[in-house]
Amino acid sequence: MINIPKGTKDVLPYDSYKWQFIEKTAREVAKNFGAKEIRTPTFEHTEVFLRGVGQTTDIVNKEMYTFTDKGGRSITLKPEGTAGVARSFVENGMHSGVLPAKLFYLTQCFRYERPQAGRLREFHQFGVEFLGATNPNIDAETILLAKTFLDKVGIKNVTLYLNSIGCKECRAKYKKVLSEYLRSNIDSMCELCKDRLEKNPLRILDCKNENCKKINEKAPVILDYLCDDCKEHFESVQNLLTLAGVEYKINPYIVRGLDYYNKTVFEFVSNNIGAQGTVCGGGRYDGLIAELGGSDVAGIGFAVGIERILMLLENLNVEIPNDSQIEYYVAPMGEKESEKAFEIVSMLRQKGISADLDHMNRGIKAQFKYADKIGAKKVIVIGSDELEKGIFKVKEMSTGSEEFLSIDELVK
Ligand code: ATP
Ligand code: MG
Repeated sequence: MINIPKGTKDVLPYDSYKWQFIEKTAREVAKNFGAKEIRTPTFEHTEVFLRGVGQTTDIVNKEMYTFTDKGGRSITLKPEGTAGVARSFVENGMHSGVLPAKLFYLTQCFRYERPQAGRLREFHQFGVEFLGATNPNIDAETILLAKTFLDKVGIKNVTLYLNSIGCKECRAKYKKVLSEYLRSNIDSMCELCKDRLEKNPLRILDCKNENCKKINEKAPVILDYLCDDCKEHFESVQNLLTLAGVEYKINPYIVRGLDYYNKTVFEFVSNNIGAQGTVCGGGRYDGLIAELGGSDVAGIGFAVGIERILMLLENLNVEIPNDSQIEYYVAPMGEKESEKAFEIVSMLRQKGISADLDHMNRGIKAQFKYADKIGAKKVIVIGSDELEKGIFKVKEMSTGSEEFLSIDELVK
């Protein structure tokens, strides 16, 4: 037997309705907010992620599936959705189209990580990218979209953490003060953060190491260094969220430590799925499109991890609607009846009604068991009597109630 690769999962037939429900909800909510779907390739030139995700991130440093293809190009399986969308935006000249470009995607992502609950090597994201608008109302709208999606799939108990990491100017001032403070604590920091101190001190703020966390607690806070413009933007976003009835907590440790991320950043975090509690992360990235060779176009977006959503729903015992049930199972009692069953099933299917019949020459009792297993809502029994009269017994599986109908009545 050949096993599935580490960190990957099959979605089995009795579970796929859950995925379909999440995907359907994502599409509906995105449409409700005016977003259109974009699909980009599973792999890109590695350069897209080096520039579009950033050299100082965990993703680029240790998590990418990168290989040289037979033509000698460096190719990477997408570790996230934003960079590919940004590449496509630039390549297709979308900046001269309708702005803002309101885009969403559902995609698999690949990261070489240590597999554990909620952390896989192939996982899936629902993401949204709104490109071309600087108005704070689109920040609030992006967050509201994520929140609406979480509500609609049945997740109520997540906390929205909100922060602003300012613009280049305020961040430069802040970085200086932060670096000074961190340098004076360098001895008790983890090795990774010692390295981060030179490359990107902001990232230290979301380090999970206990010592680093303690140091961070007393660190200066970015919000005290925001310029007037960034302050005003952040206040507007908060006002709009309050108007929309969205609760949030300000958390100065939420950072997206890349130079082209700016202003609003946010995360939705749950306490119900252990360490991997972040189900959604997002923020504004006004420098990204320029970084990928486009013009100066603003952008904001988020990504939700679908596996984490499913995990959370399971932990919360939220029942996911299952509409993969079949409407009719037709049970013939003999060979002759079997032909009639085939005819009836074909007619029902043609009318767009889902139906199935016996393929295994089972006896009537075993057929009822099977109908129950496949979740058929109704069973039609065909015996010689029924065949003769053209009237069929239709049994409702959930209640046991019976009805007698002709074929015409059935198909109606
Ligand atoms: P974490 O801190 O948990 O590693 P991250 O900051 O790397 O998360 P993002 O890059 O912001 O995550 O991705 C957005 C979302 O995708 C996450 O909030 C999470 O729900 C999901 N996600 C990220 N990495 C994985 C993974 N390896 N397996 C499953 N889901 C993931
Ligand atoms: Mg990660």
